[in-house]
Amino acid sequence: MIYLDNNATTQIAEEVLEAMLPYLRDNYGNASSIQHKLGRQASHAVESARNQIATYLHVSPKELYFTSGATESINTVLKGVADRYTSKGRHIITCQTEHKAVLSTCAYLEKKGMQITYLPVDSQGNINLQELKDSITPSTILVSIMAANNETGLIHPLEDIADICQEKDVLFFCDATQYMGKKKIDLQKIAIDILCFSGHKLHAAKGVGSLYVRRKSKPIQIESLLHGGNQENGKRGGTYNIAGIVSLGKALEIADNSNFISSLRDYFEELVYRQIEDIFIYSQYANRLPNTSTIVFKQVKAAELMTKLPDIAVSSGSACVSGSRDPSHVLTAMGATNEDAFCSIRFSFSRYNTKKEVEQVCTALQSAVSQIRDTSPIWQMYKKGLL
Ligand code: PLP
Repeated sequence: MIYLDNNATTQIAEEVLEAMLPYLRDNYGNASSIQHKLGRQASHAVESARNQIATYLHVSPKELYFTSGATESINTVLKGVADRYTSKGRHIITCQTEHKAVLSTCAYLEKKGMQITYLPVDSQGNINLQELKDSITPSTILVSIMAANNETGLIHPLEDIADICQEKDVLFFCDATQYMGKKKIDLQKIAIDILCFSGHKLHAAKGVGSLYVRRKSKPIQIESLLHGGNQENGKRGGTYNIAGIVSLGKALEIADNSNFISSLRDYFEELVYRQIEDIFIYSQYANRLPNTSTIVFKQVKAAELMTKLPDIAVSSGSACVSGSRDPSHVLTAMGATNEDAFCSIRFSFSRYNTKKEVEQVCTALQSAVSQIRDTSPIWQMYKKGLL
């Protein structure tokens, strides 16, 4: 199997697994049971991981919370801010191409009486910064824009968005789930107020993530959504997922921001362009993640193409919606036709892929696309300009 679905999830790095294992086997203490050695060891492991993440983000460990992943963090932030800031206003700004975790939570909040602005994007997936500025009203309490898009890899201009939010005195929440581990981020330099991510996108375990809430310069109030024990200063009750938390810290400690992945992705795109006609790469001319390439193969349905490539793991649209029959909301927001959206495949690389795999995938793709097109009357019509 050649695995090119790393925006859906990643394999656990060997070093990460090694770091986790003691906490799954012998050091099984509860981090809250600090009366005994096993508990203290667990508590120490949690705090070490918090320090590793804090170092990566250039923040204080006191500004970090552990969660079960980005979906929980996003729910906590959007619902929590909406709850606490209603005296200031009931308006949230987000973007049409956000992940469903944000969009579905916003839809829920809309039903509860919040007003949500969904900013449109251009054909590359960029929001218009002037439009963002103009959308902020005195009742805006939060701007929620992701760092990088999971389907196209497009990177939003985080510094500019943060500056606008600061100038207008509105909180900026950034879902950095796809960005973390792939690009460096320094929260001393970018005024993001709240940020979240998941471990399993960066070679750590599934079911663990972290939420950063700026403390130093701004007292930010977020309602606790998981009431329970006093873990995380009462903000998020529940027994710590020690092995998962350890995996998160270790994965960021060894995160590889080298140019290797982008060179692999660029080599892949070069080969695909050379070998297959009538293709189109989304967000190709935008600032993109180094590992993502979403391609339309004109008149070749992604579902059919994927059945011809059983040994290659890729994704049509985002994994979270691939069970759905709707075309990708991200691609259609960028102006793609439904037809093109259904003919799109996302290839997402990791540091564990090789040049040889890229070549094998391109050869297999070329053959599968030719097979489908050669027997397709629609393709013949398309080539004759009849569609
Ligand atoms: N945000 C983005 C940009 C994502 O890509 C994902 C997962 O694909 C999520 C949020 C949700 O992450 P999780 O399923 O780990 O909660």
